[in-house]
Amino acid sequence: MIPTSFDYKKANSVEEALSMLGDDTQILGGGHSLIPALKLRLNSPGTLVDISKISSIKEISDGGDSIAIGGGATHASIANDKSLDQYCPMMGQAAREIGDIQVRNVGTIGGSIAHADPAADWPAILLAADARIVVQNKNGSREIAADQFFKGFFETALEEGEIITAIHIPKSQKNSNSCYVKFKQPASRFAIVGVAAAVEMDGSVVKSARLGLTGVGEFAYRATAIENALTGKPLNETTINEVVQNATENTNVMSDHFASEKYRAHLANVYLKRALRKLG
Ligand SMILES: Cc1cc2nc3c(=O)[nH]c(=O)nc-3n(C[C@H](O)[C@H](O)[C@H](O)COP(=O)(O)OP(=O)(O)OC[C@H]3O[C@@H](n4cnc5c(N)ncnc54)[C@H](O)[C@@H]3O)c2cc1C
Repeated sequence: MIPTSFDYKKANSVEEALSMLGDDTQILGGGHSLIPALKLRLNSPGTLVDISKISSIKEISDGGDSIAIGGGATHASIANDKSLDQYCPMMGQAAREIGDIQVRNVGTIGGSIAHADPAADWPAILLAADARIVVQNKNGSREIAADQFFKGFFETALEEGEIITAIHIPKSQKNSNSCYVKFKQPASRFAIVGVAAAVEMDGSVVKSARLGLTGVGEFAYRATAIENALTGKPLNETTINEVVQNATENTNVMSDHFASEKYRAHLANVYLKRALRKLG
């Protein structure tokens, strides 16, 4: 449980961090995923570039039609943000259920999505929120839709030398609501199954729905067949039971010592129904 030796550099701005990144370097955010990986020697970078003191990427601000969350914002700052509770309630609900207070005070949303643990909460929520992820490299910045960001088991669209500087969460419309529910691993509180649901209503029927699931497969995904089946229907018990038949369609369901494949698939349906009932 002792990492290989490494150099440590602390950056005071994104530009300084980018200038420090190169061969054999790795970004250090809150360190709650990276430090355990170093101790297990799953990673052994020559230099860590610490971005945790860069204040410009820690803020949460109103970006007009969206809320801009800095890539270095902690889970705790998201949990305490009133504008997110107003415009995207599932964000605060999820943040308040991540790990324990130490993890929430230090772990960051950028670190979480860069790491892309299949049991992490944020990937499902960013998919359901239709978030846009802003990344910066030495040559400029680019935006990646959440739908394009999560590529596989601990795999994202992030390229070498890129820092996640912001996550834009579109403000929900008047007739919209969202929620996050999870069946959690009791010690770590990682999701065994987590469901993020966002719906926009047109009167009494669903105009559109986005449903993100985490913990189930090798990476977070949207239950698009169920989203489509919900559209145009009233959000009541009959509809929910009719459309939520198989929340794991087209997904390679994981099996481990916490939950078998069959149990996880069952939980995915149960928790998807719970999320939709909360919004109905
Ligand atoms: C006991 C415990 C319980 C936990 N429970 C939960 C839980 O319930 N739900 C949950 O979702 N997570 C949970 N976590 C994970 C936690 O949320 C981590 O904080 C998070 O996964 C990683 O964020 P970090 O800032 O600590 O990143 P780090 O560990 O510093 O970095 C992780 C990876 O992301 C890269 N990185 C970091 N920041 C950036 C950036 N801005 N741009 C680009 N790359 C970056 C690093 O190079 C590294 O590869 C738990 C962790 C622990 C230790």
